[in-house]
Amino acid sequence: MDGIEGILKRYWGYSGFRPLQREAMECVLAGRDSIVVLPTGGGKSLCFQVPALALPGLTLVISPLISLMKDQLDALTECGVAAGRLDSSMSSKEKAEVFRRLDAGELKLLYVSPERLLMEGFLDSLKARGVSSVAIDEAHCVSMWGHDFRPEYRKLRVLRQALPGVPVGAYTATATGQVRGDIAAQLLLDSPETLVGDFDRPNLIYRCRRRTGAVKQIREVLDRHPKESGIVYCIRRTDVDETAQALAGHGYRVAPYHAGMSDAERKASQDAFIREDVDVIVATVAFGMGIDKSNVRYVVHAGMPKSLEHYQQESGRAGRDGLDAECVLLYSGGDYRIWRSIIEESEPQTAEVGLAKLSRMYRYCTSVGCRHRTLLEYFGQGYAAASCRACDICLGEVEGVPDALVIAQKILSSVVRQQERFGADYTAGVLVGSREDRIVANRHDRLSTYGLLKEATRPVVRDWIEQLAEQEYLARVGEYNVLKLTEKGLRALRGEETPLLLEAPKKKSASKKPFPDVKDDSWAGVDKALFEALRQLRRRLAAEGGVPAYVIFGDATLRDLARRRPVTKEALLQVSGVGLKKLDQYGDQILGEIKRHL
Ligand code: ADP
Repeated sequence: MDGIEGILKRYWGYSGFRPLQREAMECVLAGRDSIVVLPTGGGKSLCFQVPALALPGLTLVISPLISLMKDQLDALTECGVAAGRLDSSMSSKEKAEVFRRLDAGELKLLYVSPERLLMEGFLDSLKARGVSSVAIDEAHCVSMWGHDFRPEYRKLRVLRQALPGVPVGAYTATATGQVRGDIAAQLLLDSPETLVGDFDRPNLIYRCRRRTGAVKQIREVLDRHPKESGIVYCIRRTDVDETAQALAGHGYRVAPYHAGMSDAERKASQDAFIREDVDVIVATVAFGMGIDKSNVRYVVHAGMPKSLEHYQQESGRAGRDGLDAECVLLYSGGDYRIWRSIIEESEPQTAEVGLAKLSRMYRYCTSVGCRHRTLLEYFGQGYAAASCRACDICLGEVEGVPDALVIAQKILSSVVRQQERFGADYTAGVLVGSREDRIVANRHDRLSTYGLLKEATRPVVRDWIEQLAEQEYLARVGEYNVLKLTEKGLRALRGEETPLLLEAPKKKSASKKPFPDVKDDSWAGVDKALFEALRQLRRRLAAEGGVPAYVIFGDATLRDLARRRPVTKEALLQVSGVGLKKLDQYGDQILGEIKRHL
């Protein structure tokens, strides 16, 4: 039997492991339980798929979503791996065929839903067929502390009793220490090896912009990625419909997706996106779970999500293939208020947690700190580099206002004159000269700072206040987040220190190229015309085979093909992502296309 390197090359055509993949695979081979936490795109599936081929019997994979299972099955079949699935969407004839293959010992991997697994007698029948390892995908669904709790996942503990001695691997992209502990306890894991990957996604470039005109701002992103796939997220269904229509009106190839559409309509949109009949999907957050499309080149949020967990997950759908991709977040104070009113309707305890997460999200938007660093720190990891060179802040796209010190002094002195008894919104109101009842009743329209910043809008001033708090010139105190000056704030007031305040709305726009300076080396040496020709070929092959385009070849493979331009089968096999089965199945057509092109 091949070692795991051999299997990786032969079936997937990859010649190296991603970080922690080898360690995760070795756990399975050694019969140890494991919890593997890798970011989206980190390559979790291979951690159990490769050992499945190295081990003698069957690997059982538990997966929460049928669409996810189908996707993985398609991908495995394309690579020549014998895998099957059992779920409620299949006909009894299809199921019978899977059982036949199981009995004949033909299958190396079997994907099942938790419901299916828990059906009377099913586990016993599997046991008789010889299970050598178990993989639990999306394992955070076990935990109430996770963001996607599924009660039926809790019952998976029966696996431990039903299959004693069989190693169980739990795989997820999101797990805090609390969730990890919960996974181990709920699944009765036996001193599991815990492998936690680096959560930074260096190939993602993050940008935040105050929303000044959504459609225009979205188009700027789309125009940086002609013919490439991307997702535009909206908060509400009506926004989805309007945005999709507006974009279509401008000639973009888009499809809408939200829970108000019928199942058939949603499926049609999703299929069109996966088959690359459309470039852009405009959707609510209902879209994405279970979509493995690896070549999403941009994710635009037309409105702010309600937490950084959501943002990380949704924006993380970009660039799963490791190639550069762009995440743009358009936000407004209005988004904050919509979410706040929704969250406030929930139970007090939930609402409290929800509001704290919401505030943190808004602070991220108006932040002046490196976005990569902020996200990593939020998820409990440190960030060593001084500059990520992959966010609007580090790329210097957002200019500080030239007279930041004077503006800061006006704000700080208003806080002092209001006797440090009011919050950010109120303070902004005083500074822009609002006639609001509260302000007049408090006689703050007579303060010397009243209207001092009236040339700015209230949301802009509020942003500045947030930025001052973020840099610790101001502190928020108590239940009402009352603003108080810190030591640093006093120094700024005396002119001894100058804060950074962002221009809002930001004036300097992102450069036309999505990836300025050296980041864009993934295109180095790529023959773009050939890339385009191969992309068309991939679309045809996908349509013929009835599988998603990226299942045939990822963008990384297409670029490598268009860079190396192999003309023999031997050379073709050197390209990353071309294994034996794909060589056999598509080799001639690819070589033909390349030769024609040359
Ligand atoms: P995850 O489930 O962690 O989000 P996937 O398993 O879907 O990630 O992998 C993301 C993409 O990376 C897939 O296209 C996969 O084929 C590719 N990939 C995984 N491991 C490797 C590797 N060692 N070398 C190259 N590509 C890889």
